[in-house]
Amino acid sequence: MEITIKKADTLKKHPEDSALGFGTFFTDHMFNMDYNPEEGWHNPRIEPYGPLEMDPSTMVLHYGQAIFEGLKAYKTESGEIQLFRPKDNLKRLNTSGHMLCMPELDEEFILEALLKLLNIERDWVPAESGTSLYIRPTIIATDPYIGLRSSHTYRFFIILSPVGAYYPEGFDPVKIWVTTDYVRAVRGGVGQAKTAGNYAASLYATELANKDGYTQVMWLDGVELKYVEEVGSMNIFFLIGDELITPELNRSILSGVTRNSVIKLAKSWGVTVVERKISIDEVYAAHSSGELKEVFGSGTAAVISPVGNIKYNGKEITIGDGSVGSFAAKLFNDLMDIQYGKTEDSYNWIVPVPSV
Ligand SMILES: *Cc1c(COP(=O)(O)O)cnc(C)c1O
Repeated sequence: MEITIKKADTLKKHPEDSALGFGTFFTDHMFNMDYNPEEGWHNPRIEPYGPLEMDPSTMVLHYGQAIFEGLKAYKTESGEIQLFRPKDNLKRLNTSGHMLCMPELDEEFILEALLKLLNIERDWVPAESGTSLYIRPTIIATDPYIGLRSSHTYRFFIILSPVGAYYPEGFDPVKIWVTTDYVRAVRGGVGQAKTAGNYAASLYATELANKDGYTQVMWLDGVELKYVEEVGSMNIFFLIGDELITPELNRSILSGVTRNSVIKLAKSWGVTVVERKISIDEVYAAHSSGELKEVFGSGTAAVISPVGNIKYNGKEITIGDGSVGSFAAKLFNDLMDIQYGKTEDSYNWIVPVPSV
């Protein structure tokens, strides 16, 4: 398929790197492609960024048949642009799509389209340390129909947003709040898919956590409300004794690209990594016995997010002395160094954006 390109007549003024924040600025162009059963995916095009026109009955607005991805493009010191493990994100997009009854995408073709779009928008990749261009591929159901079934037509799009450093004031631990009243996902549900409804379902508990002075929610399993699953929209790790423990992928946990990278890096350092069920009671017991050394989240936005405090059933514990642990700091620095091209990429994780 040929990707057609229509350039914007006027270009936007770029914000200062220091004013970026997360997710408020968008670049000049986007990628669009449509699906119908007769033609399959068709009409791939790069065009000016702009609103989608939709019938009010459009299925995605009613039943949430929507999936997305999140990855970043980084600028190296020498000015090259590169992606971190984009093929894993595109593979996961198809995994999510499968669960939401959506037609499969050709991952190689989408990577080619993304590289084309990024090449056009390369000036939008900010350069200041810790900044990046966030990439949001999305698929939505587009049938104008309010009966309940899966849609026959879809729109796939990619939008780009320059984002600031996640820790502008330094690498800082977060306070997290364990809820036993709400769950993010359930056994047999769609927790392993990056689908809109999972995030809508997480808002209320997050608001309660925020009101109580905590940044993020720690989610327990939806069946027994006993085992730790994730924190906010990140995967979670516990350094207990000399073992790094993370909940095993049980179909309600999202399989993070950062999670997988953390596991590989830790193993390469000779650390024992265990993927298994871990109950919140075990975490508290390890804290009491002095074996709980570090807790941190992992995800594309923050890379590594150290946890300073946890509150569960009204009891708050402080991890270590409440400051950033050395293990989390090393992971953060090593991952960032790979992403920004400061160290050798011995895992073949980096895909450069060629200028053509
Ligand atoms: C996106 C996401 C993650 C992190 O995945 P990465 O690929 O590491 O960015 C973890 N949990 C949830 C619920 C997510 O949506």
